[in-house]
Amino acid sequence: MEIRTLTPVAPRPGVVSRILPFSCVDGPGSRLVVFFQGCNMDCPGCHNPQTIGQCNHCGDCIEHCPNDALSLDRGSGQRKRRLCDESQCQSCDLCLPHCPRSGNPNAVSFGVASLVERIARHAPLLDGVTFSGGEATLQRQFLVRLCDALDREACTTHLGRLIDSNGLLAAGHWPALLERVDGVMLDIKGMDSAIHKRLTGRDNQQVLASARLLAQAGKLAELRWLVVEGVNDGDDELTALIELYHSLPNPPALRLNRYQHHGVGERGQSMAETTSERMEALYRQLSEAGVTLLPLVRL
Ligand code: SF4
Ligand code: SF4
Ligand code: SF4
Repeated sequence: MEIRTLTPVAPRPGVVSRILPFSCVDGPGSRLVVFFQGCNMDCPGCHNPQTIGQCNHCGDCIEHCPNDALSLDRGSGQRKRRLCDESQCQSCDLCLPHCPRSGNPNAVSFGVASLVERIARHAPLLDGVTFSGGEATLQRQFLVRLCDALDREACTTHLGRLIDSNGLLAAGHWPALLERVDGVMLDIKGMDSAIHKRLTGRDNQQVLASARLLAQAGKLAELRWLVVEGVNDGDDELTALIELYHSLPNPPALRLNRYQHHGVGERGQSMAETTSERMEALYRQLSEAGVTLLPLVRL
């Protein structure tokens, strides 16, 4: 009998849209934030629309970089791949409007070791790392390997780990991640399925199931509600949100975020910005209903 040996498949790199070395708004304390590229929702009101798409290496962006940071490279494989040379990139964002897939031409592929090394540079000044996006859980296999490597390194093992997620992940995929992180900050964008679809392009069943699963596992670190006035701030939505909140075991504080146009693409401009007065009224209404809220950020 012929015995065939399988060629080992190299682990996939992580595709990272951006790394923010220090943030104090993406979880407790001082945190480095890794924004992973690619999302499984398509929210018109997304504040980072360039993180949604995955690159198909068409090359359309390359001529628009004034700093010669972008190239198409054949590397060791047959297919050409878009590369961004970080040492040349000036983060000017001039390439962003030229990607037809809502992608980020200056996204960079990282192996686990190189991303750990990047995090380690800042580790002495950090309390933790937040994995955001896009949707970080789309790259969950890479995340698992990254967390294990952060644990192995003496200089990064102290760092807390949080995932910032839209919740669109099947129940069976959560446990491997939850073993490796302190918690998940979860966005809910609508309680009614039709409203959720309007705001994200996707149904909300899996998101609500994730909220329950995370709360039961004691890993729901934060709940967020992006208030889009006239869309998801009606009485039915609030009643359903309050019901969900009180049905969760040990619910965390809810963060209300105000919908604003800053950073939003053309599609999101047609939805009105939420007024501060509306935010304050909702804050009062939810507090009176027994929901614990984080202080409103007044911007
Ligand atoms: S952000 Fe970077 S890759 Fe994009 S145009 Fe500017 S220098 Fe070039
Ligand atoms: S980033 Fe966008 S424009 Fe550039 S190669 Fe990838 S898909 Fe094409
Ligand atoms: S889930 Fe978040 S990252 Fe994804 S499209 Fe919506 S707002 Fe953008």
